[in-house]
Amino acid sequence: MNCALVTGGSRGIGRAVCIKLATQGYHILINYKENKEAAEATLSLVREAGSDGTLMQFDVSNPGEVESVLNAWIEENKDKRIEVLVNNAGIRQDMLMFQMSNNQWSDVLDASLNGFFYVTRIIIKDMLLKRYGRIINIVSLSGLKGTAGQVNYSAAKAGVIGATKALAQEVAKRNVTVNAIAPGFISTDMTEGLPVKELSAMVPMQRFGTPEEVAEAVGFFASRGASYITGEILNINGGLYS
Ligand code: NAP
Repeated sequence: MNCALVTGGSRGIGRAVCIKLATQGYHILINYKENKEAAEATLSLVREAGSDGTLMQFDVSNPGEVESVLNAWIEENKDKRIEVLVNNAGIRQDMLMFQMSNNQWSDVLDASLNGFFYVTRIIIKDMLLKRYGRIINIVSLSGLKGTAGQVNYSAAKAGVIGATKALAQEVAKRNVTVNAIAPGFISTDMTEGLPVKELSAMVPMQRFGTPEEVAEAVGFFASRGASYITGEILNINGGLYS
């Protein structure tokens, strides 16, 4: 059975990605950190989309937890393989840098940048053995352009962009592609409380994007049709930056 692992699949963009990949026939491994109810709601939507899934709770920023949960799953599911990995889990903790605490810096880097490393290092082994895999990293406009008030988040996402390009070259020979998607403003819990009207006015399309609009592109990168695209960073931002 072919599986897709989506980190942070319980809410927002991750949930929409789970549903999209379910329509493409994947059994979805829905990772979440603590919000089990939301993860269960994603699982119901995955089933409505015609596939099935498994909840997988771990904190991507905790290497011990990542290793024990993923290695146990791999050991117990030798008949299944993870063909698609979407590194989506992430947090923001905005603060001007001169006021930023060590924890605000390290928590954001731990979740996005280190989380990418801990999860991908394990999952990629089998992709290399089977000579097929699709890795899609959800980064951000902030990692390309930089955003004031988000030096930590911009650094984390820029780190994942560099890692995407480097890893793509390491594994291309084995038909494993590594791409990234850089959303602009997307309506999710993460952007809750932002001044939507003011920020939308800055976007050429005059609105925030939806998680489904991001998930469409993930579905494409995950598909067999995207076989010659690797190391690419795709903007999805309504024209805000290119
Ligand atoms: P969200 O609605 O806040 O959802 C975050 C998801 O990540 C939740 O499923 C959460 O799980 C999970 N998560 C957070 N920390 C985790 C950890 N340490 N381990 C495992 N799971 C963790 O966020 P979103 O807006 O969908 O964002 C998804 C991704 O897109 C993030 O990487 C974000 O940086 C990126 N992005 C978002 C936007 C935007 O405008 N929304 C723009 C650019 C990029 P729980 O439910 O258990 O908390």
